[in-house]
Amino acid sequence: MTTGSSAPSTPDRASALLQSIFGYDQFRFQQAAIVQTLIDGGDALVLMPTGGGKSVCFQIPAMIRDGVGIVISPLIALMQDQVDALNTLGIRAAYINSTQTSAMRAEVEQKLLDNELDLLYASPERLNTPEFIALLKRSSLALFAIDEAHCVSQWGHDFRSDYLQLRLLHEQFPRVPRIALTATADKRTREEIVEQLGLQDARVFIHSFDRANIFYRISEGQNNRERLWRFIRSNHAADAGIVYCLSRKRVEAVADWLRQQGRIALPYHAGMDADTRAAHQRRFLVEEGVIIVATIAFGMGIDKPDVRFVAHLNMPKTIEAYYQETGRAGRDGLPANAWLAYGMQDVISLRQMHQQSKASEDFKRHQHRKLESMLGLCEQVSCRRQTLLAYFDETLDQACGHCDNCTEPPTTWDATEAARKALSCVYRTGQRFGANYVIDVLMGKPHERISRNRHDQISTWGIGTELSVNQWRSLFRQLLVYDYLESDSDQYGGLRLTPRARPLLNGGENLMLREVSRTQQKSATRSARPSLEATDQPLFDALRALRKSLADERGVPPYVIFHDKTLHQMIASLPTNLLEMADINGVGEQKLERFGEAFLAVIQEFNEPH
Ligand code: ADP
Ligand code: ZN
Repeated sequence: MTTGSSAPSTPDRASALLQSIFGYDQFRFQQAAIVQTLIDGGDALVLMPTGGGKSVCFQIPAMIRDGVGIVISPLIALMQDQVDALNTLGIRAAYINSTQTSAMRAEVEQKLLDNELDLLYASPERLNTPEFIALLKRSSLALFAIDEAHCVSQWGHDFRSDYLQLRLLHEQFPRVPRIALTATADKRTREEIVEQLGLQDARVFIHSFDRANIFYRISEGQNNRERLWRFIRSNHAADAGIVYCLSRKRVEAVADWLRQQGRIALPYHAGMDADTRAAHQRRFLVEEGVIIVATIAFGMGIDKPDVRFVAHLNMPKTIEAYYQETGRAGRDGLPANAWLAYGMQDVISLRQMHQQSKASEDFKRHQHRKLESMLGLCEQVSCRRQTLLAYFDETLDQACGHCDNCTEPPTTWDATEAARKALSCVYRTGQRFGANYVIDVLMGKPHERISRNRHDQISTWGIGTELSVNQWRSLFRQLLVYDYLESDSDQYGGLRLTPRARPLLNGGENLMLREVSRTQQKSATRSARPSLEATDQPLFDALRALRKSLADERGVPPYVIFHDKTLHQMIASLPTNLLEMADINGVGEQKLERFGEAFLAVIQEFNEPH
């Protein structure tokens, strides 16, 4: 069906599809306006946090407009799942990428030419081949959806050179509307997407980046692994989650260790062979309660809705990365935790990574500023969410009440005097030693290197015994964060004063800092278990068991059948017939027809008087 803006029935048609296919009552946020823009043939740039509901924004227009919607996504490992999920909804979807045999590809291509598809997922590499462009020229196209559009940004962390070619789409197919979507975008990335993809005429839809259901907790300290385990054990005893580490070695070690504690924990990093990696990803999706321990190689585009926690054992390089990685928790809108532990070593090694990189000075400065913001988020004493949102140019007027700093305000202390001692000790030792050495001098801890350098004879020797080693470490870390000190890029990380240090040393400035946590682990994070009455648990378990067996029969993850949220609603409303079942959010026509009776039967069984 061809539609112009004048067709009065279009919004109704879109709503009808939302209800009948997806089983949702109404569009949320700006979905309706986005859908309408595309149906009318316009371009759109959509910035929406993970879990916001980007997919229907292009899926529905693709079904309403004539021809097939081409979805460009860098995540070929996930295409199969995405297509399975769409087929389960009764949408004619297929994918085309390098994992297929040529026979399979030929079959999809034929469907494309015969206009038998609503949606076709393709990798950017594929799209950039002349053959594929030629094929598209012979097909009828509804729209182009460019997913993970921030991959076009050379300043960002997910840059893909293939994305740069996508601007050609506009030249090759000027009449086909385009929608670019991303969950990561500071202003600069946003501008780059517009620029690189030629989206100057696109309507821009920016949705709030607040993920209200996520509780943020950030802490520094030692024994991070033990602290991680305490956090998981007390908050997520049976939940699925992701643990991020910086190195492959650490990934393996932490996964082993969590397994020893009795959890199913699987490693995931770029050094593993592709099959094992895919198998681990699959188990994470299909089984319940699996923990993935991964480098940042894992997770882009994973749309498992019931990840209940994301933990970081190292500091992410940027706030965008932190926000995106933590955003993988709680996509279903139920309570979830973001937990980060870091130490001074993170600060130093991230700095060194930047300094040693071969990028341009301009780029390095840019990265450095981003790291600074991330560190600022970690060390700050006020609401985390306010800072996070401010980073995405959003203002949250009040403290959120749902982060560690809001629920247990950290104490601050006047660190002016101690900071002066630290800075002058750095100066007197010649600005070439790392923090550990300088702390030894401050605390008057004699050792061979110190006496060789005669640093036990300088004026700052032993003047810092009023603080513990931990307090000094925290102080040095914060002096680095706030740019009073900088560190060498070599492996020794020698500290130097910056111009900022002068006013502090001269008495023109005071410094209030976050109190270092003396007890390593403070109280637990919010319980992120979806709230269920204890009496409802047996029914929930039974519904889950049914869901699992239906999923296994079809070789898809359980949430493709129904989300937890939908099961919760079944428990709340206890439908007794298909009509009532159809009222539940997440139950569309196809799912009602395929699964309705089976779920009704289980509910009935629990409700019969015994
Ligand atoms: P994103 O791609 O933005 O991360 P998805 O498109 O995967 O988000 O949607 C996130 C979740 O919200 C999915 O479970 C989806 O089915 C659900 N959802 C999307 N739109 C609606 C809506 N209008 N009403 C209810 N649920 C919705
Ligand atoms: Zn807060």
